[in-house]
Amino acid sequence: MSKVAAAVKAALAYLSWPLVFFSGLTGAYFAFANEQPLAAFSAVYAAAVILLFLLERIIPYEQRWLEADGETANDIAHTVLTKGLVQLAALSAAIFPMLAAGLLQPLAAMQFRLWPSSWPMILQATLAVIIAEFGLYWAHRIAHERLFFWRFHALHHSVTRLWVINTGRFHVIDSLFKIALSQIPLYLLGAPLQVFWWLGAVTAFIGILTHCNVDMRTGPFDFVFSTPRLHRWHHSKDLREGNTNYGENVVLFDQLFGTYFNPDRPSSTDIGIKGQIAPGFVSQLTQPFTKDGVRQILGLKPKRG
Ligand SMILES: [Zn+2]
Ligand SMILES: [Zn+2]
Repeated sequence: MSKVAAAVKAALAYLSWPLVFFSGLTGAYFAFANEQPLAAFSAVYAAAVILLFLLERIIPYEQRWLEADGETANDIAHTVLTKGLVQLAALSAAIFPMLAAGLLQPLAAMQFRLWPSSWPMILQATLAVIIAEFGLYWAHRIAHERLFFWRFHALHHSVTRLWVINTGRFHVIDSLFKIALSQIPLYLLGAPLQVFWWLGAVTAFIGILTHCNVDMRTGPFDFVFSTPRLHRWHHSKDLREGNTNYGENVVLFDQLFGTYFNPDRPSSTDIGIKGQIAPGFVSQLTQPFTKDGVRQILGLKPKRG
């Protein structure tokens, strides 16, 4: 490798995390001011995914993770199902406002209107990220510590490589559990729609970054944000390393509750679970609902007789 190429790669390693995160948020800022905010945001998000996909080929963290694992279609299907359900819920609320109002009225009556709507949006968004993180942290930690929830979350950990495309590989029940714990508190506090958009934007960019197979140097960011370096430890097969770094966007609660893990060595590439996940999309969705399916997820032999 020439000296110039080496220098470019080194610069990319240090610049790529802040570049993707902050230019993503800048893109979101313009998207949200656009007449078609969600379409514009989707375009910004797609650009970030493509950029990371390219960086994975220029400065991969693990060469082996560039090889196909036969799970790409399933990864995309799980992502689309969760995103689709959330979109569908939003759409049906728009199409059937009377029905939605009837269902939501008891909840609306519980709103406390404590939200500081007069603050600058950047402070409101920061507050929302922290409040949502409390729910995200506990939803994620419970998913690892309680068998009832692990049966759904194991799907996310069953991958043997990390790359930008398997960011959204979550069982739909796992996703809905996380969304409920993180967003209901904001709703009850009376946060406006724009705040949910910003939370969504931060989660979207941090998410693709934590999973990307790019050799990024994140240094001081590791103390605040959930970075690829920290999240790779979280995917480690060795549970002493893996049952750590539960933070989705920021690592504040890992630090407060003692699950922050960032030793001074390259993070693990030996990732995965002990059990077996079913091969197809539909069977991956139904597996946690059958006794033998759960035994398979846990790596136990099926019961005979
Ligand atoms: Zn996890
Ligand atoms: Zn992950």
